[in-house]
Amino acid sequence: MPSIKYIFVTGGVSSSLGKGIIAASLAKLLQSQGYSVTIQKLDPYINIDPGTLNPYEHGECYVTDDGAETDLDLGHYERFLNVPTSQANNVTTGKIYKSVIEKERKGVFLGKTVQVIPHITDEIKERIQQLGNTGEYDIIITEIGGTVGDIESLPYIEALRQMKWDLGQSNVLAIHLTLIPYLSAAKELKTKPTQHSVKTLMESGVQADILVCRTEHEIGDSIREKLARFCNVDKESVIQSIDASTIYDVPNLMLDEGLDKIVLKKLNLKSDIPNLDIWNSFLKRYRNPKNKIKIGLIGKYVELQDSYKSILESFIHAGSVNEVEVEIISIHSEFIDNENIHSKLSQLNGVLVAPGFGERGIEGKILAIEYVRTNNIPFFGICLGMQMAVIEFARNVLKLKNANSTEMVKDTLFPVIDLMQSQKEVTNKGGTMRLGSWKCELKDKTNVSNIYDTNIIHERHRHRYEFNSDYLDQVESKGLIASGINSETGLVEILELNNHPWFIGVQFHPEYKSTVYNPHPLFVSFVKAGLKHSKLI
Ligand code: GLN
Repeated sequence: MPSIKYIFVTGGVSSSLGKGIIAASLAKLLQSQGYSVTIQKLDPYINIDPGTLNPYEHGECYVTDDGAETDLDLGHYERFLNVPTSQANNVTTGKIYKSVIEKERKGVFLGKTVQVIPHITDEIKERIQQLGNTGEYDIIITEIGGTVGDIESLPYIEALRQMKWDLGQSNVLAIHLTLIPYLSAAKELKTKPTQHSVKTLMESGVQADILVCRTEHEIGDSIREKLARFCNVDKESVIQSIDASTIYDVPNLMLDEGLDKIVLKKLNLKSDIPNLDIWNSFLKRYRNPKNKIKIGLIGKYVELQDSYKSILESFIHAGSVNEVEVEIISIHSEFIDNENIHSKLSQLNGVLVAPGFGERGIEGKILAIEYVRTNNIPFFGICLGMQMAVIEFARNVLKLKNANSTEMVKDTLFPVIDLMQSQKEVTNKGGTMRLGSWKCELKDKTNVSNIYDTNIIHERHRHRYEFNSDYLDQVESKGLIASGINSETGLVEILELNNHPWFIGVQFHPEYKSTVYNPHPLFVSFVKAGLKHSKLI
């Protein structure tokens, strides 16, 4: 049996260089040559997972089929590879220590002093090889979060050093992503930070095999030669990663640079011409839109690019399918009021109300939903967005004054959204929501059964509250139909409005499942509705 290959991606000089995109792009190139590849993210922070982190700290929390709350890079991995990730694809220092300490309490290390080396590093290596041992993959790409030299990433770099030694140079590869800054006063690209970063890595005993150099300007031959000489790599292993206008260009940029070829050569694997036909036709449609629409994204973290990452990417996929440019207008829900609502929403071709937690900004969301419902503007509510649509409908159509969710007002007179039964005993915050993929049955002849073109779907969830079925008859009698239901629990997962061009609220997160090769049908249909609307105004 050929041995499984491990590729590590580390970062130096600066954070936010795009290690996740480089890892995903390389994986795409390898996958397109017939290799089975998965990507794993090791996060050096001590939280068990990012589920308890504020989006201001960490951007979006991504959710896998098996209910892991993960780093948003896993979203990129899935969107690029079109293969689901799992619990094993995101490991944090918190998880590593928790497991080692639990083993210690069980007496697994009886008699031994438990130490960073070998116990923590062994646990890290085990988590990396766990993916290899599934037998599903030829190549595991492991991205180590943070930058080399950080105190908290040291055990991970040490695990990488040991794995190179344990498994041999041709089975373990270290790719180092670094920044080549441009000094405009000197009109020069500078290699010194990269030299230092490669040295820092060497201090931990790891020689970078390949350098990926993030740069705003072409790096040219002399810089490649200089870097090769100072950093102990061959010139063909100095890869330029120039700023791209979209992350979806990066696989082709890496292909032009020969990153896949050099990786496969160093791993003693055969290389072929990657088949990127579907990818490239997606890009072609994305680049040549025939129309343009404006979609309002209403949330309370809209000033942060990363908070609604998967939603934004889903619109890119859906825009490409419809050959339309989707301009996203971010609207902060806290600043919507009766005075400004018309000016903020009247020119939009659709409104998406985002997921979220807590009370801040919800009245703005409810006002916005009333506006789009009564003005026939396409509406898409996701999770909290769906819940707000129910509250709006209860207040303004059913005339249930001050109807609310018990998340916002515990003793509200009309709790149209309420804590799920299964959540009533839960006190811990971390990892305790209703998470991961759940089956949902779609009612015949509804908008959603048309859109999905099936009656059974599986979608990912992350919530504690749900539609209160005591109000089901009332809402349905006025045209808000529960068109998707989990038949085992009876939970309402989708509500849609009759007599409206497009008004759908979903309790789940379709954005987690949209990929380049498989754009999500709800986003595709919503963008199509936006396009139709744009022709009317
Ligand atoms: N706060 C709501 C709940 O827990 C919605 C969650 C979400 O939008 N992800 O049910």
